[in-house]
Amino acid sequence: MNQPNQSVSELSTTLRRDVESICFSYGRKVGRPGHAEAEAVLLRRMEAIGCRPYAGDSIRMPFRSGEQDFVNLIGVIPGRAGAGKAPMLIGAHYDSVIDAPCADDNAAAVAIALSVAEAAVGNCLFERDLIVAIFDSEEPPYFLSDSMGSNYFAAHQMKPEGVHSALIMDLVGHDVPGVPGLESLVFVMGVESHPELQKAFTYAPHPETLKVAATLNRYVGDMSDHSAFRKRGVPYFFLSCGHWQHYHQTTDTPDRLNYEKMAAIVKLNLNFLRGMDALALARSYTQETLCDTVAMEIAALEQAFGPALPMLLGRIGVRSLASRNDIDCFVRAMKSGLGL
Ligand SMILES: [Zn+2]
Repeated sequence: MNQPNQSVSELSTTLRRDVESICFSYGRKVGRPGHAEAEAVLLRRMEAIGCRPYAGDSIRMPFRSGEQDFVNLIGVIPGRAGAGKAPMLIGAHYDSVIDAPCADDNAAAVAIALSVAEAAVGNCLFERDLIVAIFDSEEPPYFLSDSMGSNYFAAHQMKPEGVHSALIMDLVGHDVPGVPGLESLVFVMGVESHPELQKAFTYAPHPETLKVAATLNRYVGDMSDHSAFRKRGVPYFFLSCGHWQHYHQTTDTPDRLNYEKMAAIVKLNLNFLRGMDALALARSYTQETLCDTVAMEIAALEQAFGPALPMLLGRIGVRSLASRNDIDCFVRAMKSGLGL
């Protein structure tokens, strides 16, 4: 059983096994045989972990949209509070963009979500129920459409009680390229989506082996399934290690992932979810009045980048990070010039 204090090497082994179990050379594209195969593997694994159906009598939640059949896999890990509190959600898409393994996109995130679920069930970690959402059809041509698995879930399959908060992942299995020493970076978008969420970010212990940088969703845009929740005003975290040279390529294979980094992200997610679990997250705000996270972002960037930060700032002519404008300059430079 997966314990929160399970060793990194044990967790890494589980993560590798889960990634390899759905990384076929022929991929998991919607409508292809590999898609149904991956879906069956994941369904069995979720049942074995102890996920219960979210609605009806099966974790498998098929839907039809625009003449195409899809399947979301939605399970629940019951929390200690029973039905009294709104549930949290952890989610990742399992479809692939091409007929290839697509390990980082997005088998890695699926494997991490499964390991989080396994730790939660084994240890009754949360007060709230945890919805484990393995979404279909995130990739083009469904991306951001009504047929996108997360959009369909939020519009048609989600219960009226909604979700308290969502933690979504995409592209979280690889080392960040470009700047030596920054391979272990992981970016967390969405901390700005609710004034209380900073607490879950700041107080959650960050594993020593990870560099955790908080940054605004508008810097990267709605590049994954968190879009469905952001648009509905659900407080969310979106974790990603950004693009790399194997993005949407046949070379995105399981052997190129960093399973120890993924194990650290499992632990980070468990800490984030513990923090979120304890927050009331009243809906007394609007999406237009996103909260001010400048100080928190600067602190997180300083901690994440360490001694590399002054050097990087020097390269772009910014003396130090002190304002939103400074962060804008830094993020723009990171995105364009430094291979991030
Ligand atoms: Zn993709």
